[in-house]
Amino acid sequence: MTIYRNLAIAALCAVTALSWSQTAKVCIDPGHGGSDPGAVGNGQQEKTNVLNTGLKFKAWLDKDTQDSNGGGSWNIVMTRSTDVDVSLQGRCDIANNNNCNRFMSIHNNAASDTSANGTETYSYTAPSTGSDLRDKIQTRMIEAWNRTNRGSKTASFYVLRYTNMPSTLSELAFITNAGDAVYTGGSSWQDVAGKAHMFALQNHYGLAAYTPQTAQSYIVDNGSSGFSASSSWFASTSVSGYYGSNYHARATEAVSDPAQWTANIPTSGSYQVYAWWTAATNRAPSAPYILPNGSTVYVNQQANGGQWNLLGTVSLSAGNQTTRLSCWTTSGYYVIADAIRYYGPN
Ligand SMILES: [Zn+2]
Repeated sequence: MTIYRNLAIAALCAVTALSWSQTAKVCIDPGHGGSDPGAVGNGQQEKTNVLNTGLKFKAWLDKDTQDSNGGGSWNIVMTRSTDVDVSLQGRCDIANNNNCNRFMSIHNNAASDTSANGTETYSYTAPSTGSDLRDKIQTRMIEAWNRTNRGSKTASFYVLRYTNMPSTLSELAFITNAGDAVYTGGSSWQDVAGKAHMFALQNHYGLAAYTPQTAQSYIVDNGSSGFSASSSWFASTSVSGYYGSNYHARATEAVSDPAQWTANIPTSGSYQVYAWWTAATNRAPSAPYILPNGSTVYVNQQANGGQWNLLGTVSLSAGNQTTRLSCWTTSGYYVIADAIRYYGPN
């Protein structure tokens, strides 16, 4: 391919900041595929390595989009998601026809000299919006894999030249080098590379690098160390459908004597709080749960026993967070303290 270096003056384009509510459409292009294996070496095929890496990159961006606490919001177009042939022009068409904002091609490098190694990233021109993204990818990839830094470069690769948007091409490392191949073919290293490309994209759009959090459940049962209640609360198994090995019950009374569940929340964010109780006709029809944010939610414990019931969604900071169940409600009933589940961040 002829190398075009005829742009004496490259346009310097401002990179606009992206707030979370906005979306950049990013085309991810795993090189080769189908009948074209790309480079081969050390028992690996480039087409397989870069497809796996590209899909992991997409997964990170999807996670980032789902997590509103940081990072960005991304709309992802893949030139291929399976092992199929896509022509070079076909790849450009996919990006161009979808009006993607960025095009990011992912490859493994190769050389007949198996000692050649390291990471390099390309844009069509420099300086340019594409080279800004290119430089950030190179920085993040060196940080992620710590392979030889071969630098940021320009080239007139077909997909860089014929895509209408700022574009990059990552040569992650050499499939033909035994040391590099540990990274190119290693599933966890491919994931790290995908994450590095997400960080680069976040930085390119003026956002701080952010690792999206996957929502998890934090459950405190009445048998867990995070649970506490006075001796006026008694353990029972008389009504079935309890969480864990039993539940605690207390006669309703106009005194302040709550049962409480405390969970150590590792990451700040929005969480759903769920409660589990056992239902019976002697339960409080208006049992007052006090959420970590201080709001009180009244539930009818005569119904919906033996399941998680949503109390509400609260914003929690990292650290110990407590939900309480008060006994101060209509007299003549029992309040049931079984388990509390915090689910998030989301
Ligand atoms: Zn390639």
